[in-house]
Amino acid sequence: MPEVFLASRNAKKLEEMQRILAPLIPDIRVLGLDDVPAYDEPVEDQPTFEGNALLKARAGVEATGLPSLADDSGLCVDALNGMPGVLSARWSGPPKSDARNNELLLAQLEDVPDARRTAFFTCAVALCHPVGDGKVDQHVVHGRMDGHILREVRGTGGFGYDVLFTADGYDVTTAELSREEKDAISHRGKALREIAPLVSRVLSGR
Ligand code: IMP
Repeated sequence: MPEVFLASRNAKKLEEMQRILAPLIPDIRVLGLDDVPAYDEPVEDQPTFEGNALLKARAGVEATGLPSLADDSGLCVDALNGMPGVLSARWSGPPKSDARNNELLLAQLEDVPDARRTAFFTCAVALCHPVGDGKVDQHVVHGRMDGHILREVRGTGGFGYDVLFTADGYDVTTAELSREEKDAISHRGKALREIAPLVSRVLSGR
């Protein structure tokens, strides 16, 4: 069975990526970091989601020799000039904590009125794959989900900032949606649905 490597340490994000890809590309084995020998993962030091996604996918190819997918994603809040953006995972400092990130977000937006609490999730998904002679081809797609930030956490599903984020057209947070409902509208769902046919083609050598 053809194999693709998903380069992510974030177990919840990996789970979302695996479940979104499974029905789109049924006959492949999706490997995570635990399925391959350990390697030095790159420091995500690029200023853009695209740059960090490419960094992770390229390191995945170098370490495994397999076609590799990586997602770099984050929350961009309009009233905070797009912050936390690429810093979303580690916004409140080490060790990474979703709970502290959410507390910081609530504190930063305390005085911001409801109408100005708009935000969006965005992600870049990179696919890198070996094409012979040590060369690697790369492709990047983007996905986005618009919404706004609540004043208190709600829900137990999802991960990260989901407990504070309500997508446009909904009155529940993305942590209160079912997995299928979130995948249907999420930044990650959109990007992975766009790149899935390309992953299929690369894996089947067409
Ligand atoms: P990355 O692993 O550097 O791409 O970090 C992504 C971070 O952005 C996560 O740790 C979350 O804080 C946030 N994030 C990205 N996608 C989502 C999502 O679907 N829901 C909630 N938070 C997300």
